[in-house]
Amino acid sequence: MTIIALGVPSVSRRVGPAPVGGPLVDTYGRVATDLRVSLTDRCNLRCTYCMPAEGLDWMSGEQLLNTDELTRLLRIAVTRLGVTRVRFTGGEPLLAKHLEEVVAATAALRPRPEITLTTNGIGLHRRAAGLKGAGLNRINVSLDTVDAEHFAHITRRDRLADVLAGLAAAHRVGLQPVKVNAVLDPMTGLEDAVSLLRFSLEHDYQLRIIEQMPLDAGHEWSRGKTLGADEVLATLQRHFTLTPDPAPRGSAPAQLWLVDGGPATVGIIASVSHAFCSACDRTRLTADGQVRSCLFSREETDLRALMRSGADDDAVEGAWRAAMWAKPAGHGINDPDFVQPDRPMSAIGG
Ligand code: SAM
Ligand code: SF4
Repeated sequence: MTIIALGVPSVSRRVGPAPVGGPLVDTYGRVATDLRVSLTDRCNLRCTYCMPAEGLDWMSGEQLLNTDELTRLLRIAVTRLGVTRVRFTGGEPLLAKHLEEVVAATAALRPRPEITLTTNGIGLHRRAAGLKGAGLNRINVSLDTVDAEHFAHITRRDRLADVLAGLAAAHRVGLQPVKVNAVLDPMTGLEDAVSLLRFSLEHDYQLRIIEQMPLDAGHEWSRGKTLGADEVLATLQRHFTLTPDPAPRGSAPAQLWLVDGGPATVGIIASVSHAFCSACDRTRLTADGQVRSCLFSREETDLRALMRSGADDDAVEGAWRAAMWAKPAGHGINDPDFVQPDRPMSAIGG
């Protein structure tokens, strides 16, 4: 049983300018229907693979999109560009006071997109019901370990109990399936993966293990220092019977495995070792209004400046289409000339 790599697109590139209408395509024929929106670059944790222990300048209020600008871009994405799924992220999106308002505005769009949230879960126990009421469909809570000491080491904060309370509240209010996102620590990760899967099975959460990518603020990532998906899978197989999920994977980044005959599953997201760029259907918007065609883009398109200069919807749509038309074939992490983006994951939106 192996993890399948989908690689980079094998079709020949289309030339010429971006199409003026229709779906949001790139020159390799991929269609972006999944929009990741970062609401803030701020965070109340300091995960080692994402943020530095101290420092990192926050974006100013003036730099951030205001609620009107953000909801305008969401409307353009859904009604003009064919976006069908919107995921709010950050930084920590629960630190954005307008989260419920933005979720409700997104839920009012037609055709109504699916709305999801990726959060570290701190404070979620107070807001889960309100978010559900505003129209949130599903949630992913990031949790890399259920061991309090390991948690404090990885996140540099002692907040495991808050995350567990957030997870429980999300499940209780029906934000299901509740998914748990885990990036494994190189030292304790194999042990953490086994206990996380036991914990997820017990609580009816769906565990997704994500390979660590070179998006840390310190630019210290190196392949040898991270756990690869094959190693994680082999470890889990020593404790559980894993069989490939027969359901088609489509553009999903996670390869799913039935655990002990199912129906519970565990997903492995092997972004580095078995890239899936040929199936990528994402477009990204940062909290300061920059479109990124890829997590690893070194170029951004400034929709905030365009909007603040008085551009109409046609012009904003055209700029977004041009940004996506230039999407690279793949993230290039495995290429010898790979250069890590300047912004860390917390400022891009994971
Ligand atoms: N703060 C929220 C959270 O942690 O869920 C949302 C933002 S966080 C950047 C989104 C996701 O990116 C989290 O699941 C986190 O584990 C993941 N992430 C952050 N840095 C990463 C990295 N270097 N490699 C892989 N995943 C990363
Ligand atoms: Fe914060 Fe999420 Fe980054 Fe952790 S992964 S530091 S919770 S933004």
